[in-house]
This record gives sequence, structure tokens and C-alpha cells, in this order.
Amino acid sequence: MEILARAIDLSRRFGRYPALSGLDFELRQGEVLGLLGPNGAGKTTCLRLLSGGLHPSRGKIEILGIDLSRRPVAAKRHLGYLPERPPLYPELRVDEYLRHCARLHRVPRRGVKEAVAEAKRRCGLDGVGRQLIAKLSKGFRQRLGIAQAILHRPRLLILDEPTEGLDPVQTREVRALIRELSKDSGIILSSHVLPEVQAVCDRVLVLHHGRLLRSEHLSAAPRAGLCRVRVAGAVDPGQMARLPCVEAAIALGEGRYRMILTEGATSGDLARQIVGAGLELHELGPERPDLERVFFDLIGAGDPA
Ligand code: ATP
Repeated sequence: MEILARAIDLSRRFGRYPALSGLDFELRQGEVLGLLGPNGAGKTTCLRLLSGGLHPSRGKIEILGIDLSRRPVAAKRHLGYLPERPPLYPELRVDEYLRHCARLHRVPRRGVKEAVAEAKRRCGLDGVGRQLIAKLSKGFRQRLGIAQAILHRPRLLILDEPTEGLDPVQTREVRALIRELSKDSGIILSSHVLPEVQAVCDRVLVLHHGRLLRSEHLSAAPRAGLCRVRVAGAVDPGQMARLPCVEAAIALGEGRYRMILTEGATSGDLARQIVGAGLELHELGPERPDLERVFFDLIGAGDPA
């Protein structure tokens, strides 16, 4: 897959304070990459650097292979950016605002009408074109912020906290919109909400104090060789660990175990062996990466509540 964005040793200081230090990553076509971290982790700084609105103190960014510092105009043509606070003008109507943004994005004059209609359609803004922005709900403003970012059909979309402050219904709608947009563009977004990242991202970069702590794939695919089981009654963990297809069994309490299987063994083998050993199997499922555990371990904040 084509690499849409590449950050190399990306760093930014504010005075002596290192807001971002030595970040390296790539974003590929069709991927939704999440930046996750607590307040002050450096997420917004990273996205502002990627948008070209802030210059790195060290390192560089390439957008479709174009050096963002050296050829900003050419690189930015491929970018759409939803900042933390979308740059909306309350006194304008939705259509007026989008036409204005289309001109800023250098959409050719004869293509403006179509670009505005297309962005509105994709963001569910049909029917509010004549409304004053001041009168839009927060959810609709956020959609409008996204619409202005996609007007010129950028290959790369940068979304800073796209669902911040939305109610649960609006949040669900904006998440669905992000997944939809990811069919055409690579997306990088920031969030400090774990379920958000798990719901929409394919991969997450965990940031803390401006440093990358971990890059984690969030594919729906379970980790090979890992299962979670629940058996009835008090079972000796040793008995679970001695099953032929089991490398190790970690007791989680109340009959639940995380099982590490031997090379090539399947969950079917495990089920047969548990039942064959005379145990009562209540549940057996794939073990997926537990982002919450990873996150809290990494930032050293103790266990999730
Ligand atoms: P949040 O979730 O609160 O938005 P964040 O992860 O986006 O946090 P940043 O906004 O990137 O974090 O900020 C990282 C650090 O850099 C913070 O300590 C912040 O105070 C500092 N910082 C950000 N912008 C500036 C600035 N313009 N001048 C000085 N310090 C700044």
C-alpha cells in the first residue's frame, strides 16, 4: 500500500519544553491511524506539524513523498485538516462557508458547486445549506468542519479530536463518517478516548510526554495462539497448563484463563482437550489485544477502573 505520510524523527520544542520528541511513523492508503494519549501528550502538536501549520524543531514530514517543509504548497494540496477548534464563521451560511473554503483549497471555479454538493452529501449536510452556522448543533458543526477538510478530495485527512464534545448519537454518526471517508483517504486522528480509537482505528500510536510509547495494530483478528477460556468449578491451573496443546495457562480468577497455545495448535484442539480432560467448558474465544491494559501499563497510571 502506498505511503501517504511519513514522519521521521519528528520533534517540536516550545522554548525548552519538548512537546514532541523523535516520533517516527508511516501512514498508508486506506489506514486509520489513531494518536492516543492523555492531555498534554503531544497529539495536537503532532497533527499541527503534519498539517504544515507548525514547523518541526527537528526531523521531517513527507506527504506522498513530498517534503512538507521544502514544498509546502505542493504537499498541502493532498491534506485536509480538522483542527481542534474548526475554523467556522458563525455569521455565514453553510453553503457560503463551504464555497469560501473551496476557494481557499484552490478548487477550480467551475468545480466549486460540485465539490460543495459532494462534501455536503458525504457529511450528511444536505438540507442545511442555507442555515446560519451560528444556529447549527455541535454535531452538525463538527460535520461541517469535516466537510471543509474534504472539499478538495485530499488523500490524507487529519482530524484533531473529531468527536470531542459530541453526544453519544452524534459521536456514533461522526465515527461512521470517519470509517466511510477512510475508503478514499488515509486518516490520522487524535483522541484521548480509548473506545473511540478501538472503534475507528486500524492502528494506534500511544504518546506520553511527547514520546511514542507504543505502536499497536487493532485489527479485528485475534492474536494467533492466544485464547481466553472459562471452565466450571475450581480447576487446578496446573491441569490447564498440562493440556497437550497448551504452552502456558494464566489464571484470571473465577474459572477464567488466558491460554497460550503451542505452535500450530488451534482453538478447536483446545476445546477438544478441555472436554477430553473431563472439564466443563463454558466459554472459549479469541484473545484480542487489550488496548486499555496496554495503555494504562504504558503510561504507568495503574489498572483501568
Ligand atoms: P490535549 O489532549 O490536552 O489536547 P495534546 O496531547 O494534544 O493534549 P499538545 O496540545 O500537543 O497535547 O501539547 C503538548 C505539550 O506542549 C503540552 O504540555 C502543552 O502545554 C505544550 N504546548 C502546546 N502548544 C504550545 C505552545 N504554543 N506554546 C507552549 N507550549 C505549548
